[in-house]
Amino acid sequence: MVDLIIGGQKIRRGERKTFDIPLPSLYTHASVPMTVHAINGRQAGPRLFVCAAVHGDEINGIEIIRRLTQSPALRGMKGSLIAVPIVNVYGFVRHSRYLPDRRDLNRVFPGSEKGSLAGRLASTFMTEIVEKCSHGIDLHTAAIHRDNLPQIRATFSEGSETEALARAFGAPVILNADLRDGSLRAVAAERGIPLLVYEAGEALRYDEMSIRIGLRGIIRVMRKLGMIRAEANKRKRDLPESVIVRSSAWARSSKSGLLRSMVSLGAKVAKGDVLGAVSDPFYHSDEDIIAPNSGLIIGKTNLPIVTEGEAIFHIARFGKTDDAADVVEQYQAEFDPINDDFESLETPIV
Ligand SMILES: [Zn+2]
Repeated sequence: MVDLIIGGQKIRRGERKTFDIPLPSLYTHASVPMTVHAINGRQAGPRLFVCAAVHGDEINGIEIIRRLTQSPALRGMKGSLIAVPIVNVYGFVRHSRYLPDRRDLNRVFPGSEKGSLAGRLASTFMTEIVEKCSHGIDLHTAAIHRDNLPQIRATFSEGSETEALARAFGAPVILNADLRDGSLRAVAAERGIPLLVYEAGEALRYDEMSIRIGLRGIIRVMRKLGMIRAEANKRKRDLPESVIVRSSAWARSSKSGLLRSMVSLGAKVAKGDVLGAVSDPFYHSDEDIIAPNSGLIIGKTNLPIVTEGEAIFHIARFGKTDDAADVVEQYQAEFDPINDDFESLETPIV
C-alpha cells in the first residue's frame, strides 16, 4: 500500500494529519469543512473509517473518536485509520439530526454531487472516505429524547467477516438488523465493505458507559483486523460474549398524555408486564403500557410527553432471556462509571 490520499491530502506512511474537506458553504458565506483525522501506519493493513454525527445531534461518537485518536493503543498501528468525528456538520451546529434542507443524511446515501445538499454531502463522504476504505464503523445514539442500550447493528450471514467483527466489538447486544434504504450501512453492504453501526445512549448527551463500551469496541475490532497488537495486560476478568437479538418489537402508547416510566434500559420484562402508565395532567385516566413480548428493554423514550401510537419501549427477544439479562447486567456493572474499577484508556470525563 502506498501513501493515503484523501481530500487531495497526502498522508505518508507513518504520518498522521488533521485536515478539512470543503462542503457547500453557509448562506453567510462562511465555509463549512468536514474535518478528518487520518493516521497512516508504517505497515500496510486494512483501511478503517470511524465516523460519528451522521445524525448531527448524536454526539457520543464524537467523544469516542476524540479518545480513540489519542489512545496509546494506536502506537505501531498497521494500515490506516480515518476518523471523521462530525459528518453532518450542518446538523451538528444546529443541534439537529437533519440537514438545513430537512433531509436525513442517513436516508440519502450514496448521494449525488449534483443532488440536494444532503445528497452532495453524502456523495463527498462516499468518494473521499467510504470508497477509500476496506471497513467502517458508524457511531450513533438514539434519536432526541430517546436512549439506547449499547448495541451493534449489522447485517450479516453466519460465518461472515461482518459477524466476526460485530462479535469482536463486544457491545452487550447485537442486532442483525434489516438494511434501510439510503443508509450508510446499506450502501457499504452493496460495495462489500463490512460496516458496523454502534448505537448507544441519547442524542445531545454524553453517556460515559456508552462512550467506554464504544471506545473499547473499536479498539477490539482493530485488534481483530490485525491493525493493533494484542492486549499487553489482558483484563483480569473477561466479559461474556455479546448476545444476539432474535427479533424486537416496540411497546406503543395507546393514548396521548404524560408517561410514568417503570422500567429502565436493560431491564428484563415478561409479556404482559406493565412498563409504564400514561395519564392526562389530572391523573384521571391511567392507561398502562403493556409489554407485547418477553425480553430486555434495549431502547426507550426519556420524554414523559407522549402521543397515541408513539414508540415508548424497544423490547428485544432472545433465545434465553435470563442468559441475555445476565450478560447485560455484567456489562452495566463493568462500565458504569459509579463502580470505577474500569482500567480506563483515559481518565473518565465525569
Ligand atoms: Zn443516528
